[in-house]
Amino acid sequence: MKSAKSPLFLILATVIAAACLIYALRQRENMVEESRLAMGTIVQIKVPLRPGLDKKAADYAIDRAFDEIDRVEKVFSVYRQDSEISRINGLKLGEEMKITTETFSLIERSVEYTKKTSGAFDITVYPLVRLWQDARMSGRLPAVSEIKKALEKVGAANIILDKTKMTISFAKDGVAIDLGGVAKGYATDRAIKVLQEIGIRDAIVNSGGDIYCLGARSKFRPWRVGIRHPRKSSEVFMELDVMDEAVVTSGDYEKYFTLEGRRYSHIIDPRTGYPVGDYIISATVVSEDTVRADMLATALCVLGREGLKIVDSEKAMAAIVVKDGDKMKVEMAGNVRGSFRVYQKKLSQ
Ligand code: AMP
Ligand code: MG
Repeated sequence: MKSAKSPLFLILATVIAAACLIYALRQRENMVEESRLAMGTIVQIKVPLRPGLDKKAADYAIDRAFDEIDRVEKVFSVYRQDSEISRINGLKLGEEMKITTETFSLIERSVEYTKKTSGAFDITVYPLVRLWQDARMSGRLPAVSEIKKALEKVGAANIILDKTKMTISFAKDGVAIDLGGVAKGYATDRAIKVLQEIGIRDAIVNSGGDIYCLGARSKFRPWRVGIRHPRKSSEVFMELDVMDEAVVTSGDYEKYFTLEGRRYSHIIDPRTGYPVGDYIISATVVSEDTVRADMLATALCVLGREGLKIVDSEKAMAAIVVKDGDKMKVEMAGNVRGSFRVYQKKLSQ
């Protein structure tokens, strides 16, 4: 019998490796990629070149998609005083404001998911978000009385939407909304829509972990999305092969702060007023649109295992990384398909 290290085997292995490398380089050559800073994160758009779609046309489409992301940011950012959201947040008790259909729909959908997630995803969390942002800046934890006061303003029932007049008002003074848990998903969906309108059939838009995969990477391969290890940025612990689906990950990866030796997430539990504990490390949701996946991923970080039941009833699947003693493990829910690979060993090392 021939040993596996015979010259013939080595030649064959070298030829296969070279062919794979050439194929990979070709694929890269055939891909137009652009990354820009937007919405406080890095947004990356990739469009594979195809017969009839040259680099100039792909560049044009990518530019238009980034324009759309900028437009969405201008409307929904709480960090811009002139945004529609900031103007809404300036409303006093008894005042109402006419808003665009776009803003109305996104707020309405957010409120719908507050009900679906039993209050875990709630855009009225903003007074609490601000309180914890102040804590981060000042290095002083909020007082219990401050949390209690902010909690009084929280609750989707405090948002009054009038569909006939297309207006919004608040039921209490001091209510404010933050679309930070859904705006990146929305911008991603909008960017994809713009690419499609221009005629692009395959693309990937990644807004700092809010990803939509349009079509496929090539004729033979779907898009492959790797999910970063929550504590080792250079490692991937999960891979998914996706076509025409969103993959969104939320968690305490980057956006967190430490105070008095404790790690605090940027996601707040609207029911308690405190940042979510470190038991849920991250949540990845796969769904047909990025908005839904974005809201569910944030909600799962609040609800943990409990939230997996919601995923089962939604058109979605999810994988959450939870603490397992001093290690981590993955739990999944929904219609988990074969193209989902978890490298559990990498997490438990
Ligand atoms: P994401 O990164 O999509 O999970 O969204 C996190 C952002 O959403 C935070 O930075 C806040 O602006 C906002 N947020 C925090 N907690 C919640 C919550 N429970 N529901 C909705 N939005 C939240
Ligand atoms: Mg989210």
